[in-house]
Amino acid sequence: MAFMLLSQKKAGEAVSLLEREYNEARYYLDFSTPIDLAVAAILSAQTHDYTVNAITPGLFKKYRTAKDYANADPERLAAEARGVAFAGSKARNIVAACKIINEKFGGRVPDKMADLVELPGIGRKTANTILINAYGIVEGIPVDTWVIKLSGRIGLSGSGDPDGIERDLMKKVSRRYWKNFAYVLKEHGHRICHSQVPLCSKCLLNLICPRNGVVKSA
Ligand code: SF4
Repeated sequence: MAFMLLSQKKAGEAVSLLEREYNEARYYLDFSTPIDLAVAAILSAQTHDYTVNAITPGLFKKYRTAKDYANADPERLAAEARGVAFAGSKARNIVAACKIINEKFGGRVPDKMADLVELPGIGRKTANTILINAYGIVEGIPVDTWVIKLSGRIGLSGSGDPDGIERDLMKKVSRRYWKNFAYVLKEHGHRICHSQVPLCSKCLLNLICPRNGVVKSA
């Protein structure tokens, strides 16, 4: 079947239904401070949340500031983060990013998109995540794996790359929903819109969703 995009009106309806259904959806990585969050978010790429949340309490206890990470041995940090994907390169990025945070930003994780995306290991998705959850600054929508998968399926975006998906979503999703939209889609994916066989017959979007790319549903 041809790929279908939802009209602005239908997209608005779909987003409202999702937001109402999953109004308790929240960010899923544990943290207390902006530096905790930056480290957890870097570690989380291609890694389950529960793996990151199992590792970070030990890290947060040992490394409390950007300076602590900046002075860390990347190999030791990688060993302490064992279990996450690409622990070696993530540890190197954390140390390098924290050196910059320490030297250029006085030890404070920056609160500007342009500054965040210059840091090693931090792209626009992670920068949005930090801005929203550490500082309450909502500039965009973090585009993670679930957002990529479900935005196309539901017909909210026809783009194949994260930046294009974010641009489409920022037009289709009311700004007041940007903050939690990624977490709402993730919840919907976990509960109903499963990767392999989505439960379309039980889905609240059953009458709206074009089901782009769905081969088999239940
Ligand atoms: S479960 Fe089916 S109807 Fe619901 S959002 Fe996913 S693909 Fe669309």
